Amino acid sequence: MDYSHVRATDPAVADAISSETDRQRTTLSMIASENHASEAVIEAQGSSLTNKYAEGYPGERYYAGCAYADAVEELAIERAKELWGAEHVNVQPHSGSQANMAVYLATLDPGDRILSLELEHGGHLSHGHPANFAGQLFDVEHYRVDPETGYLDYESLADIADSFDPDAVVSGFSAYPRQVDWERIDAVADAVGAIHVADIAHITGLVAAGVHPSPVGVADFVTGSTHKTVRAGRGGIIMCGAEHADAIDNAVFPGVQGGPLMHNVAGKAVGFGEALDPAFTEYAEQVVANARALGDQLAEHGLSLVSGGTDTHLVLVDLRESHPTLSGGDAEEALDETGIVLNGNTVPGETRSPFDPSGIRAGTAALTTRGFEEDAIREVGDLIARVLDAPEDDAVLDDVSERVDELCAAHPLYE
Ligand SMILES: *Cc1c(COP(=O)(O)O)cnc(C)c1O
Repeated sequence: MDYSHVRATDPAVADAISSETDRQRTTLSMIASENHASEAVIEAQGSSLTNKYAEGYPGERYYAGCAYADAVEELAIERAKELWGAEHVNVQPHSGSQANMAVYLATLDPGDRILSLELEHGGHLSHGHPANFAGQLFDVEHYRVDPETGYLDYESLADIADSFDPDAVVSGFSAYPRQVDWERIDAVADAVGAIHVADIAHITGLVAAGVHPSPVGVADFVTGSTHKTVRAGRGGIIMCGAEHADAIDNAVFPGVQGGPLMHNVAGKAVGFGEALDPAFTEYAEQVVANARALGDQLAEHGLSLVSGGTDTHLVLVDLRESHPTLSGGDAEEALDETGIVLNGNTVPGETRSPFDPSGIRAGTAALTTRGFEEDAIREVGDLIARVLDAPEDDAVLDDVSERVDELCAAHPLYE
């Protein structure tokens, strides 16, 4: 990628950008929420559309000169409808959190009750954490996964819904490795007269490709992000039935946002177009196959996986049994030194602090984009296990680091 104009006018920023590109090339990105967008998506995001104000929606803008903004947004909407089979799509949310905010604004009043998965069990800040607007505006109760099995505890969810009587049940998670039974959660929401918001931020791509069941047409509202398992650049998306179209569109603009980031909408259009290619289904299948291979390999090394494995793009490792003195934060740091980039994560039944939790989370979406298949992924599993067993042994870290360099070179990125 050529940033010659930035380099000419602002070498400091140009240096940071090219260093970041190099960092991505020379490390293994296993943060489960990250991916590598194509150069086509990145170009669209860095386009002249960043200059254009297009408050409103295609055909009904508040400013002149929106013909091409309309064209881009219509393409993004049409492609999203085809990908996810939704009746109505809003592609303007700046992020997944903003998408959730808009759904809450469209459907709830301050003080209303939200029932969502606890953050430590794989939920998200925007599902009602006290540090987030959702926790400050609404009365929030949580359901959990079964600490023994690591699977969602649907029975306890139904019991809590009965006593809490929520106005909204939020499903969809940040660190849940298993398939979600959307119908079952929807039935719980229906039984107590609550709306069901399914936040598929992490698995938008898996759902689009049909490798994870879809909540579209099941839940009342589906929100997502466009940069995790679908590679359409940073942003959010909302899908719903036609009956909620106006409420959602008004909640996004003027409700919680001003002018849409049209350059990002262009990135979404390009990325959704890429995801409509049959090759994307193969990609998504490989993402899951790779996550399974990674989980199996880590288990071979005696590591304990929450829920015993995965159906998605991520594995969650509980370090407490295999490495009782190693925290997720220390593991993250040691792995980072070798170029394996992932994050410490809370695990169900967390006994440490969220800032230095007991687990690590690893995803395969970005590595799969670089062409990693099972054999290479299993080797990455071996490397992770070696580091976890000797996080302070410089000889081991150097050795792993060298192998990471070779794996990166064999799977080039942004050539
Ligand atoms: C990543 C994520 C989001 C969106 O986050 P943004 O950073 O605001 O785009 C929303 N919900 C869940 C469950 C997530 O994992």
